[in-house]
Amino acid sequence: MKRVEDYVRSIPDFPEPGIIFRDITSVLQDADGLQLAIDSMQACLKDTEVDVIAGTESRGFIFGVPIAYNLHKPFVPIRKKGKLPCETVSQSYDLEYGSATIEMHKDSIKPGQKVAIVDDLIATGGTIEAAIKLVEELGGEVVKVVFLMELAGLKGREKLAGYDVASVIKYD
Ligand code: AMP
Repeated sequence: MKRVEDYVRSIPDFPEPGIIFRDITSVLQDADGLQLAIDSMQACLKDTEVDVIAGTESRGFIFGVPIAYNLHKPFVPIRKKGKLPCETVSQSYDLEYGSATIEMHKDSIKPGQKVAIVDDLIATGGTIEAAIKLVEELGGEVVKVVFLMELAGLKGREKLAGYDVASVIKYD
């Protein structure tokens, strides 16, 4: 029986030399792979009381929505700058070259709500650190952070000290 990691395609030197790109399209385009990925990520939440699932654009949406649907919880998108039409809070963070900004609608989370944040992969942890700040700025409590994949060698987890972090697949 195949494990979820067997469905991930690893592409050396994409998008630039030295990076091994962990491609999820090969997971999604296989019905068993897709189900296994969603079920494995959802299993990370089995002992956690959650009010809201939040996911970061764009691969966090792919996994976050089915988990929210299965748990009958709302889904909140954390989007790239300039995409959300109503009042937002925003947070900028550093990328390898330059910076990026993510945003949430101000009314997307109510103070005190327990929020699980979902994304496909943690590399440096910069994206998810910014996402946590946004949720907390809105008064949400980040009770869990769930990834399909973790690039452990980049030590992104160190940025998330004090948070309950789970990943299904770990790469060195
Ligand atoms: P970071 O903010 O450094 O944790 O990067 C997070 C995002 O970058 C993830 O949500 C991925 O979509 C993407 N990413 C970074 N490194 C890789 C990689 N080696 N393979 C696939 N996606 C990656």
